[in-house]
Amino acid sequence: MKKDFYEILGVSKSADASAIKKAYRKKAIEFHPDKNPGDKVAEEKFKEAAEAYEVLGDPDKKAKYDQFGHQAFDGSGGFGGHHMNMDDIFSQFGDIFGGGFGGFGGGGSRGGVRRPKGSNLRIKVKLTLEEIANGVEKKVKVKRKVQAPGVSYKTCSTCNGQGQVMRVTNTILGRMQSATTCPSCGGSGQILDKKPSQADTQGMIVEDETVSIKIPAGVVDGMQLKVSNKGNDAPGSNSVPGDLIVAIEELEHEFLKREGENLHYDLYISFPEAILGVSKDIDAVNGKVRIKLEEGIQSGKILRLKGKGIPSINGYGSGDLLVHVNVWTPKTLNKEQKQFFEKNLEDENFSPSPEKSDKSFFEKVKDMFS
Ligand SMILES: [Zn+2]
Repeated sequence: MKKDFYEILGVSKSADASAIKKAYRKKAIEFHPDKNPGDKVAEEKFKEAAEAYEVLGDPDKKAKYDQFGHQAFDGSGGFGGHHMNMDDIFSQFGDIFGGGFGGFGGGGSRGGVRRPKGSNLRIKVKLTLEEIANGVEKKVKVKRKVQAPGVSYKTCSTCNGQGQVMRVTNTILGRMQSATTCPSCGGSGQILDKKPSQADTQGMIVEDETVSIKIPAGVVDGMQLKVSNKGNDAPGSNSVPGDLIVAIEELEHEFLKREGENLHYDLYISFPEAILGVSKDIDAVNGKVRIKLEEGIQSGKILRLKGKGIPSINGYGSGDLLVHVNVWTPKTLNKEQKQFFEKNLEDENFSPSPEKSDKSFFEKVKDMFS
């Protein structure tokens, strides 16, 4: 059970904005990590107060909370389940503290050495509809920054490898000591020792690497996949490489149109084929599919081939292939043909008599989306 936000800040439900801000400030100061170094309980309370203030300090969120309670922020609310980290709190409510409190060394957890992370690399991969339908493994060439052979790093003397230096500032609380990122090493606690001649000022070189990317079936144009640790490397013996971000681009298919997990195919048949009925082969994404068209099939009929579409990215089955039947009316006829049709102009067999079950085009479209 989540604690009541008003209880956390110690204010009544009728408290106004300035009272809420004041209450939060009091809690934030009381449990501030710089005043309670290493105290996990205080840190939790500090976070709890920030979470409460993020909602109660915002008129829209407060109104929602008053009406629905914690449920208002569960799930997609952008706030709900997530736990705020210290950097979030400082970036969001920094002004509450009147400045002077340091950030937390930029990257990771408070205190200690920050493990430098290399930057991410980005590439685009073009895929055919067939590749998307079946999943594919792609090999791509990337230019990665890596540490040069023979490079070495040593402990930074400015911060003694701590990655942070202490700073004393005057704040609303009086003199406060706060940690700030070491200006010499940027927080990694290490600086370059031996630099091979071909390396840059951080001891890095650029190398070509072939990376194999497994692309699951069902990806969508614009989707981004992450290949961990295949981005740029970072300097230092404790660094971790960035990631390779792969953006999916879907190539247009000659005959098939994609709509989510479903595929559409325009099938053109001749007048005699429509009258007599015929079997047709269709190139679907998983190979040929044979369909049988009934005698006297109408133009505009849509045949649904279950499961012949694109697999769901979540693995829940596949979409369908919708075959749109188009009867091609000939533009020219020879003499015999012309006579035949002229003879049949008034024939009852040729006069349209749609049955109630023959849905109009608009009804069919409506059905497809419902
Ligand atoms: Zn340093």
